[in-house]
Amino acid sequence: MSWSIAVRMPSQCEVCRRWGRERLCADCLARFAAPRPRCARCALPLGGGTSVCGECLREPPPFEHTVCAADYGFPWDRLVAGFKFHGAVELAAPLARCIADAAAATAPQPALLLPVPLAPRRLAERGYNQAWELARRVARRRGLAAHADVLLRPVETAHQVDLPRAQRLANLRAAFVVEPRLRSELHGRRVALVDDVLTTGATAREAARALLQAGAAAVDVWVFARTP
Ligand SMILES: [Zn+2]
Ligand SMILES: [Zn+2]
Repeated sequence: MSWSIAVRMPSQCEVCRRWGRERLCADCLARFAAPRPRCARCALPLGGGTSVCGECLREPPPFEHTVCAADYGFPWDRLVAGFKFHGAVELAAPLARCIADAAAATAPQPALLLPVPLAPRRLAERGYNQAWELARRVARRRGLAAHADVLLRPVETAHQVDLPRAQRLANLRAAFVVEPRLRSELHGRRVALVDDVLTTGATAREAARALLQAGAAAVDVWVFARTP
């Protein structure tokens, strides 16, 4: 006879190292990823009373709604770096679960989840796109479709932090293209871009513009963490 391994193996919380059933324990999530008032468009933390931040009122981004589970900082900076740069793909499941839960609480329902793409060379170096590892798991949890090949990034743009702002934006503008054969996947549909962290929003803005130009009805952003 054979045993099916239905029993979950105990694991250590990635933050506090306590043993339990989850890789992120309830205490740590309550402490470091509690819901808080955020700008509906860009997820910046907000004080009371308003739903959209001043920046988004002055210059609304091309994405309509941002979901995020936590502020980027301790302890998530270490975990995200491990997930993204050091092969800790096993973190995709607990991080995706946080995104899915945050989306369940606040978000309009998109028809399709799309990972922010990596250029082919970067993908080959890393071996996986962390955004796709999140997107496909979030999609499964939320009962949505996800597609890795609709939005493409044909070449890696130069290392962004070294460049002046104008140059950075020019680079990003050329960075994203929609696969012509898959345009119909977008047509008239609301889609959500999935990534690990939303920092300045420049990448999300350019990716969202490419999707809207290709016929998407609306673009949202779903990330694990937002730089406050
Ligand atoms: Zn913990
Ligand atoms: Zn905002």
